[in-house]
Amino acid sequence: MDTPVDIKSLTPAELTEFVVGLGYPRFRGSQILGWLQKGVNDFDEMCNLPVEIRNRLKTSCYISVATIEKKQVSRYDKTVKYLFSFPDGECVESVLMQYRHGYSICISTQVGCKMGCTFCATGKSGFSRSLKASEMLAQIEAAQRDEKIRISNVVLMGMGEPLDNFDNVVRFLRLVGDEKGLNIGMRHITLSTCGIVPKIYELAKLKLQINLAVSLHAPNDEIRARTMPVAKVYPMEQLLKACRDYFSETGRRVTFEYALIHGVNDGSAHAHELGQKLRRMNCHVNLIPVNSVEGTGYKKSNLQGQQSFAEILAGYGVTATVRRTLGSDIDASCGQLRRKTLKEGGK
Ligand code: SAH
Ligand code: SF4
Repeated sequence: MDTPVDIKSLTPAELTEFVVGLGYPRFRGSQILGWLQKGVNDFDEMCNLPVEIRNRLKTSCYISVATIEKKQVSRYDKTVKYLFSFPDGECVESVLMQYRHGYSICISTQVGCKMGCTFCATGKSGFSRSLKASEMLAQIEAAQRDEKIRISNVVLMGMGEPLDNFDNVVRFLRLVGDEKGLNIGMRHITLSTCGIVPKIYELAKLKLQINLAVSLHAPNDEIRARTMPVAKVYPMEQLLKACRDYFSETGRRVTFEYALIHGVNDGSAHAHELGQKLRRMNCHVNLIPVNSVEGTGYKKSNLQGQQSFAEILAGYGVTATVRRTLGSDIDASCGQLRRKTLKEGGK
């Protein structure tokens, strides 16, 4: 028998083609799409389809779902962290955050990550597999259903490197904007990458209006390579050039993520070096106090250090904000919950 088709990863046109291929009229495709857009996950609930078609669908395709394995709610700010599982037993994390303007979700794009950044819990747990577009959508839908809310913003900043799963991520981006489905506009989506240069060019060419965040975490290649192996493949000069190209192709300002690690990248000389490199670039810097991950020995810079780092950057005309940490009591830095659960011998 053929492998079942991942029906939720199909575009409307592909879905129609699939239904016609099974020997049914085109309007059956629209009916199925309508149910999927409503978040229906069971073919038996598609009551306008004859039982024969429902049964055929059950054997020829499947609807991706994310099941809540664990849920933690922060006592401080109501941030919710989910550990979701998929039918093959793999688990990923998502974090739901509430802001004044609505709900934002940080989703995973892979189970684990190949990139091996030394400060990152996901990087430390190795790589299992990439997620399908439908599995990215399923994280959003499951959180919406669980909290009975509508999510307006999505950040691809959970587990995994989105540009190492390029085709599925782009497919996801095209599906998530579907007016009758989740209807989340590209300007409300942020993709974070560790800096896979050729893929940044590829993404820029698509001219999607998504926000690009780049994990820099160092002012030069020498320091960057100590924590991020990818720096040995794509030097900073090439990376910054790709970011300039992203801006000129899309008109979207790039954000640089910079986790301040005490004694590694948080000195005033580091701030000056970074300021010089980013001056005259259309960008914004997010300074994040590093989240300590067991076994890394990395510590956060103190508040004063964070502020003075931002002030030095401002002297070069580079805007920087110190990001407030949400959900600090619930292992809300992605990869931490799965890592802990794996260690405890759970899923
Ligand atoms: N792979 C992508 C997206 C997922 S990681 C990337 O690296 O950009 C999401 C963000 O969390 C990245 O900016 C990453 O550098 C950051 N991050 C990972 N571990 C962290 C930690 N311990 N403290 C602070 N930020 C961390
Ligand atoms: Fe992967 Fe991003 Fe973690 Fe690096 S920081 S290991 S790229 S998830």
